[in-house]
Amino acid sequence: MKCYKILTCFFLTFILACGVQAQTADSVDVLDYDVSVDLSAGKPFAGDATLTVRLAAPCRSLALSLHGTADSAWVNGAALDTVDLGAIPTTAFAAGDTLTVRICYHGAGYVESYGWGGFHFDNDMTYNLGVGFNVDPHVMGSVLMPCRDNFHDKATYTLRVRAKRGWTAECGGLLQSRTIGADSLEHSVWRIGQEVPTYLVSVSQAAFRRIHSSVPALYGTYPLTLGFREGDSTLVKRAFRELDSVVPMYERCLGPYRWGRIGYIATSKGSMEHVNNIALAKEFMTSVAERGQMTIAHELGHAWFGNLVTCRTEADMWFNEGGASFCSELAMEATKGRAAAQKYYQTNLEAVVREAHVTDNGYRPLSPMPHQYTYGSTTYDKGALVWHSLRGYLGDSVFYGAMGRLMADKAFSTIDAAEVRDSLSAYTGCDLTDFFRFHVFSPGFVDYHVHMDGTDVVVRQQTIGGDAAVLSNRVPVTFFSASGDTAKRVLAFDGVEGHVAVSLPFAPLYYVLDRDCELSDAATLAVYRKGSSALNAAAHVNLYGTIAEEDSVFVEHHWGRPWDLDTLTGLRRPAGRYWVVSGARQQYAGLQLRLRYVRDGYVNGNYPYLDPGFVSSAAVDSVRVLYRQGYGHPWQAVSHQRIGNSNEGWFTVDNPRTGEYTLAVVDTNLLSIHSPLSTLHTPLSLFPNPVAAGEEITLQVPVEGTFTVRIFDAAGRQVWRKKGCANGRRVNPRLASGTYLVQIENKFVSLQSKLIVL
Ligand SMILES: [Zn+2]
Repeated sequence: MKCYKILTCFFLTFILACGVQAQTADSVDVLDYDVSVDLSAGKPFAGDATLTVRLAAPCRSLALSLHGTADSAWVNGAALDTVDLGAIPTTAFAAGDTLTVRICYHGAGYVESYGWGGFHFDNDMTYNLGVGFNVDPHVMGSVLMPCRDNFHDKATYTLRVRAKRGWTAECGGLLQSRTIGADSLEHSVWRIGQEVPTYLVSVSQAAFRRIHSSVPALYGTYPLTLGFREGDSTLVKRAFRELDSVVPMYERCLGPYRWGRIGYIATSKGSMEHVNNIALAKEFMTSVAERGQMTIAHELGHAWFGNLVTCRTEADMWFNEGGASFCSELAMEATKGRAAAQKYYQTNLEAVVREAHVTDNGYRPLSPMPHQYTYGSTTYDKGALVWHSLRGYLGDSVFYGAMGRLMADKAFSTIDAAEVRDSLSAYTGCDLTDFFRFHVFSPGFVDYHVHMDGTDVVVRQQTIGGDAAVLSNRVPVTFFSASGDTAKRVLAFDGVEGHVAVSLPFAPLYYVLDRDCELSDAATLAVYRKGSSALNAAAHVNLYGTIAEEDSVFVEHHWGRPWDLDTLTGLRRPAGRYWVVSGARQQYAGLQLRLRYVRDGYVNGNYPYLDPGFVSSAAVDSVRVLYRQGYGHPWQAVSHQRIGNSNEGWFTVDNPRTGEYTLAVVDTNLLSIHSPLSTLHTPLSLFPNPVAAGEEITLQVPVEGTFTVRIFDAAGRQVWRKKGCANGRRVNPRLASGTYLVQIENKFVSLQSKLIVL
């Protein structure tokens, strides 16, 4: 389901006949509902339901829920003297017996206090939405029929609808018959032959227009019904044409679509994944905009996550809703490509890390989720991130193989988080205990920091919003050579810190953490190439200027605190974020690096809660940009400018060097601004230096490949030049005594160092 409203308050709604629960949770199993509803006169409506019930264990009575009034009831054809849905007597039956309970009733057209879930009798349409925000539990099948209203008792359904004059019905299931009776009204019969919980059952009626089409996919071609009342049918068709790409993608990843047909109806409120008959907010029925398309995709994703395999209790709603939201990302990948899907994913990641803990009143584990946060951002959006991360952790083929098997093995049943973990571990042969312990059962996010120590890569981690650490780490790092070759390695290590020896086919010039955005860590990535957009909102960075044709510049944006900063004199308060700029050059002349800030408590902009507790409006002038070349180098304040106001804006650095950047409130008397970045230490060293006249010099520089060496005298004249030099190469320019400037240069690098000849 997708509601898009901010949940502000919650009330318990008392359900009629919730009385004495004489049966235990597992003692009763409803096998089938045969429900007739007469909607021809609006509400209240008359209903007649026959439930086929199996007693798994002996019990005194059966309790059913109904938003309405039960008028009469029969058990195995025998009328009951008094009708109490909370205690339908079953003492005459033994374990294993199957009985029928028939109830004639009047439904009230009940809608929850939030105004969303329930049975809506609008002037132009009648429809139900099967879950509610302000009801406990959230299921609302009992607005349609007397039922065992929970997430786990699955049954089959026959729905018989008598429609209002001139109207026609759309319901869950496959249409069995549609006839005009002697009363001149439409009578239709629908059958849901697969076992589903009550909240997924739907009936609706309106003066529907319909489009009948079909969706060709991997395991079959599925009839498609689109029911709507407003809008241009050409636009409706256009809004759903991407299903031809989306459904095959879902089937490739999750296994066959199991419901026989696909159906959507346009409704005035929200969107809800009823089996065969998805209620779609009507503004999306003709929409090709991202939000509409992603909602169409989300609801269809429930055909696997939620409808086929259902969370056993609402405490594991992340399985349903996080899974369906992950499906939206898959749909984006299927229709717009991997890059668009990564952008969509990063936009979600940014929002989740920044504010899901605000809207959900704390960093929360996905499971178990307290009732009032069942449908919060953590469930949907962090849920989607965790599925994404599991895909990255296992790799596509292993992940989708296991997901297809999970959907097949658990089809038409229910599941909880531990069972998801154990099943996927068994299918993949990969112990996912630690993955689930951190990502599902603990709050917060992990942020990794990577540096090289010789040929070892050192990975450190910190947790944002929690205390747990990831102990079974798999951290993808892509290494780049000076000539632009790349090698990706997944650094696997146990524990909070890893020292991983990597074997590479070249000497790495630089490296980028999670270049392909596989991990749902608390970091986003901006990639700049010629012609790419300067602004990357998800990474809160803007690399302004013209990128050279041959360049790629990567900016990692981390939500962790900057590392190794605590001893800096004059530091008052670092921001809880830092950036890592990587690329083949040491410095990008002509570009400007812009780093976003938002004042503490400023919530009217696009990025509220970005920097909680960091800077007040009064302290903005005391913020400095801190820079270090990398691990082992000192942090220094570097000259900056500021664009924006006391609420939000950018700190800018001209001609940025590669390395780490953060923002900090400092004591400006104690921490002076270091000279501009261009005069910072360069890694070109000459040995020996000073050198005796006529003696050889060794070039020591962490640059792969060859470069040209030029030497200039004090007057700026080039006095010596040699092409094809490399790191470690000895040269003998036979210089006279004096001071010289040595410059090395290739396509990627330009470095200088002073040389004194004695
Ligand atoms: Zn949903």
